[in-house]
Amino acid sequence: MSFSKVLGDSEVCRQLEMMSQNRRLPHAVVFESRDTELAQRASEELAAAFLCESDSKRPCGICRSCRKVYAGIHPDVYSVETTGGKQATGVGEIREMISDCYIKPNEASGKVYYIFDKMTAEAQNALLKILEEPPQNVQFIIVTEKSTLLLKTVLSRSTLFKLGDAGDVKPSDEALEIAVEIARAIPQPMELPLLAATGRLLKGREVTEQTLAILGEFFTKALEEKYLGERGYEDYITGMSRMLNRASIVKLFDVVSRAQEMLSHNCNMNILVTWLCANIRESRH
Ligand SMILES: [Zn+2]
Repeated sequence: MSFSKVLGDSEVCRQLEMMSQNRRLPHAVVFESRDTELAQRASEELAAAFLCESDSKRPCGICRSCRKVYAGIHPDVYSVETTGGKQATGVGEIREMISDCYIKPNEASGKVYYIFDKMTAEAQNALLKILEEPPQNVQFIIVTEKSTLLLKTVLSRSTLFKLGDAGDVKPSDEALEIAVEIARAIPQPMELPLLAATGRLLKGREVTEQTLAILGEFFTKALEEKYLGERGYEDYITGMSRMLNRASIVKLFDVVSRAQEMLSHNCNMNILVTWLCANIRESRH
């Protein structure tokens, strides 16, 4: 196998090939893709390249290490598993990974960790600590459907590669407008503005999908402003960070993730919008 077999003739492919060849892979790579299988295959290539025993083309595809990675049996390649039927990887699983990554590899020169599932905000904050001071010879590979679901701080310490058509869709002005209206309505005690703002999502799935992604970004910014002292955000971000406590913002983040999941399962739009409005309202308390 090779990066080009998975990713075709693309800029991402060329970059990954060059980094692998020069043994200069960034310690944390984020693959953004709506195609889960593509992202998993790219992750496997990257793991193989990182652990490959060849001095020429990496991944060579034929050394013992490459073959084990492709067979999914390499003892130094780990997949962080979401336990207990939860929808997102929690802080517990990430802490377990962190303590594991300081233990020597079994047979290779390094270790690889895949994080395929969505992560809660707490899990991402725990991950952030290890990304700030990553141990030697450890490769983290984070897969996400949308990079906006990741905290800006996590993204800033990783190298993002958009695979397939992940980079193609630009959110519409309307989605941004609705997201801003919802963000402004959230801290208000009256129900009507929130009802009116979320009601606008009934117009369609696409605009809803984009609005939810933007809201996820807004909540991340609000958390950053509240806890990391980031400044210079728009008034509606500041409004949320001042009026809501941390638990509320984290809850809102989860509400958006769950709504995105409902949407991806093609749920009825009326049900989704009603659910969203009710859960946003509840998260404020
Ligand atoms: Zn190899």
